[in-house]
Amino acid sequence: MRYVGKLYRPPSEADALILQATIGCSWNHCTYCDMYRDKPTFRVRPVDECLADLRGAAARVGGAVEKVFVADGDALVMPLDHWAPILDACRALFPRLRRVSCYATAGNVADKSDDELRRLRALGLALIYMGPESGDDETLKRIAKGATAAEHVTAAQRARAAGIDVSAIFLLGAGGVARSAEHAAASAALATAMDPAFLAALTLTIVPGTPLAKLADTGRFTLPSPAQMLGELRAFVAGARPTDAVFRTNHASNYLPVGGRLPRDGARIVEAIDLALAGALPLRPERARGL
Ligand code: SF4
Repeated sequence: MRYVGKLYRPPSEADALILQATIGCSWNHCTYCDMYRDKPTFRVRPVDECLADLRGAAARVGGAVEKVFVADGDALVMPLDHWAPILDACRALFPRLRRVSCYATAGNVADKSDDELRRLRALGLALIYMGPESGDDETLKRIAKGATAAEHVTAAQRARAAGIDVSAIFLLGAGGVARSAEHAAASAALATAMDPAFLAALTLTIVPGTPLAKLADTGRFTLPSPAQMLGELRAFVAGARPTDAVFRTNHASNYLPVGGRLPRDGARIVEAIDLALAGALPLRPERARGL
């Protein structure tokens, strides 16, 4: 595989083959995000290059590939005439393939018709990772997410109606100290309304050079303390009522890795958070946290 710049994928795609079918993020405005600032010009790679990469990977490890993750930051933005040959090749080249997944914004889903979403599912796109980060519209505006909570609900409903599973990602601390309570409560409500199969919480780190870092440097954004962010996590877990979602905080950015199914395991997870808040469970040290 040929890769440009740094690659990112969700923790649950650690064992996936990564195909970099797009370079960068077509949105690239979220104030906290540093992931694709080294690739300021978004582009879709030519299909022939992607297919050559897939054939090369198949020749080396084809029998072992069970998952393909299509990068970079919002690969769902690709048109169908790019997706179709890539998904066809994945099915043809990897006999043990179980799923293909990618990151997606609410806008990417809105730009696809219901027919296109169903076709993507039929061709093998089984899961999209969406990061609303917050359910609080004021927070979403401040972090320049590019979509409202309601637009995320619509996108998740349309993806699920097409048979595509949704993994929804929320970002502890995204509202700053100023909107911490609103952010946590509204995020739980959005997680309920999106009703995804998978839910995850990450913890905000202010990355130098981002617009958010400038706001923090000038006192216009204050990052909640680790205890405040655990409080957000507690409110989120206690309030989220999806039908049955696998929930994890196993991302390296988090202070406390917890997991289970929501709402089934909510009480047990809240107990663990309370133990951590009381100092009876160790938190991941700052030096061990990652983005
Ligand atoms: S949509 Fe995702 S990858 Fe793109 S700027 Fe926002 S957080 Fe970063």
